[in-house]
Amino acid sequence: MRARVSFFLLLTCAACNRPASPSSSHDTIGPVTLVIHGGAGTIKRENMTPEREAAYRAGLNQALDSGYAVLAQGGKSLDAVIAAIKVMEDNPLFNAGKGAVFTNEGKNELDASIMDGSNLMAGAVAGVTTIKNPITAAHAVMTKSDHVMLIGAGAEKFAAEQGLEIVDPAYFFDSLRYKQWQRVQQKEAGKEAALIDPYSRDRKFGTVGAVALDRYGNIAAGTSTGGMTNKKYGRVGDAPIIGAGTYADNATCGVSATGWGEYFIRLAVAHDINALMRYAGLPLQQAADSVVMKKVPRLGGDGGIIALDRHGNISMTFNTTGMYRGYITKKGEGKTFIYQDEK
Ligand code: ASP
Repeated sequence: MRARVSFFLLLTCAACNRPASPSSSHDTIGPVTLVIHGGAGTIKRENMTPEREAAYRAGLNQALDSGYAVLAQGGKSLDAVIAAIKVMEDNPLFNAGKGAVFTNEGKNELDASIMDGSNLMAGAVAGVTTIKNPITAAHAVMTKSDHVMLIGAGAEKFAAEQGLEIVDPAYFFDSLRYKQWQRVQQKEAGKEAALIDPYSRDRKFGTVGAVALDRYGNIAAGTSTGGMTNKKYGRVGDAPIIGAGTYADNATCGVSATGWGEYFIRLAVAHDINALMRYAGLPLQQAADSVVMKKVPRLGGDGGIIALDRHGNISMTFNTTGMYRGYITKKGEGKTFIYQDEK
């Protein structure tokens, strides 16, 4: 009898880890080894030029290739996440690192976080202005300090002590982002205008993120952003907050979010997806749908997530009209997507 119960449990368990139903979010694709995003929002074909679209796809592919190279050589998921995010931080198309949006005071203030699903270690930095690749600083906080989050000048001092690349704040300047900020300032616009993207004229977020699964079964997740245009008073969004913008646990999944940070913080989005898998036994896609498609819009927020479970199933779920996103399988087959109707 005991054996039969165990067998039943085994079957139930295997079933709950399998994708629930095919969906636009690609839960059925696997095994995937790396999934990335470059921000969600109102991203429409009619507002995009072919050149701009090609540039976004090239940026996503470059990030996928960079992360995949680490994994293919037997590297760790953490290093793959860092490699993929660094590429997007260096690309001014994305609102992270170079090309970050401007604050109300005309500065670029960056946030980033990373989490290791094998031991629940995590690191984050917020409000930094001189660290070239904030994701590397988040990783250093996780591995070289006793803390989880460092902010502002303290985080910058720590990064310099760790030998990370420090740049003049002017490095992050991007003229299109600057014009976008000036327009917002002139209009003294509210939240809507603060989300207009200068590259595509669409309302969108531009945060970047990556989640990877390595051959050792370890999941890692990371997120990096410049936050929201015209943000004030040292505002920090969800991206550097463990449990909101980033979470990883080998037992469940890794998640990186993009969207209206205030809502993602209030719902602890990344952790909530993990919790639904762990405590309610939901498969990844159902957990993601429940949080991103129901809870976030119910509260008035918007955005999306990418996630990867321990079997290499992914979710790329968003409640906006688009999300820059892509994945690469264990065989090295990569695919990128921008609009909602792309499968
Ligand atoms: N979530 C980010 C923030 O609120 C914005 C984004 O995703 O682009 O700071």
